[in-house]
Amino acid sequence: MPELGIDSSKLTIEKTKLPKSSLPTKGLVYGQNFTDHMLIIEWEEGYGWKNPEIKPYSNISLDPSCCALQYSFELFEGMKAYKDSNDSIRLFRPELNMKRMNESAARICLPNFDGNELIKLIIKLVKLEKDFIPKDFGYSLYLRPTMIGTSGGLGPKPPKSAMIYVICSPSSPYYGLKIKPVKLEAIDYASRAWPGGSGNSKLGGNYSPCVLYQRESAKRGFEQILWLNGEDNHISEVGSMNFFIAFKDNKSGKCELVTAGLDGTILDGVIRRSILELTKEKLDKEKWDIVERVCTIQEIIERSEKQEVLEAFGCGTSAIVTPVEGIEYHGKYIIIPTDLNNECGPLTRNITKWITDIQYGNVESNWSVVV
Ligand code: PMP
Repeated sequence: MPELGIDSSKLTIEKTKLPKSSLPTKGLVYGQNFTDHMLIIEWEEGYGWKNPEIKPYSNISLDPSCCALQYSFELFEGMKAYKDSNDSIRLFRPELNMKRMNESAARICLPNFDGNELIKLIIKLVKLEKDFIPKDFGYSLYLRPTMIGTSGGLGPKPPKSAMIYVICSPSSPYYGLKIKPVKLEAIDYASRAWPGGSGNSKLGGNYSPCVLYQRESAKRGFEQILWLNGEDNHISEVGSMNFFIAFKDNKSGKCELVTAGLDGTILDGVIRRSILELTKEKLDKEKWDIVERVCTIQEIIERSEKQEVLEAFGCGTSAIVTPVEGIEYHGKYIIIPTDLNNECGPLTRNITKWITDIQYGNVESNWSVVV
């Protein structure tokens, strides 16, 4: 018998008897508050996916020997639900999160699932929690689909049982409402990801080893790490975001927006992909080339000396776009231009608006799914 797939029509809902009041937007800290309910779907080898349940948010019980706790059989996604000016709830390109979640699952022998069915269930959860979605611009309900291996017994091997759960956290704009550029420290003594590794999957085990370097860099006064890879010290990502840099060639006058290609060490970010697609569509093709290519720290130093660096930013679902004002590398500080208010350059500002206009439904697009 083939294993059963996720069946959203089998959902059962148990509502909480202790509802929280919806949270005030003021003082909301990213990822610290959770809503009343969570979605849970269990899987067992040979049986498949069991009936999905929405339950009151609570602790989960796990065997201390289970593979999620012992060997990091864990992966997650990050997506958001937004409230538009008509009070409709919207998701942004959720099918891309489902595709990536399935790819992460395949990487660590966790089961695959039908992404459309999980989206249907997430929509049911989001609708139930609609009062927790702050309405103001920049606010959203952060959604954290997670998959863990639950089977017990020591020894790293393919899990025999697993669980998907989705929790929701009302969130404020990541860096507050004012755009504030960040200082990066480019480091070449540690890597987030490497060829043949798992950096292109969203596995919890990719993140914990980076926190030590992040903490050390923060002590030296930097908000984020710019991860350099390879003998040539090429840029991979910034913190937990993809990285873009814009150059202008002084001789030809031609501009270039550059990000690292998906070589297995880069997470295929939903915002990265959206920026590549939007800039190809909207920027003047005579003037701009949008390129996925290797860019070394040496190139940035040399082009900065020639005043050919226009702007740089990190991007991801949490903060959307994070402008960069400087990069430190081996004691040398490279200034990245912003604007007179020290917020961000015009390209970064336009890109932020193009994306958020779609997310909040100010501009109609099939990337924004009304639920
Ligand atoms: N790179 C890494 C390592 C990430 O963890 C993330 C997500 N926080 C991103 C890039 C951005 O991905 P997305 O645009 O899908 O949020």
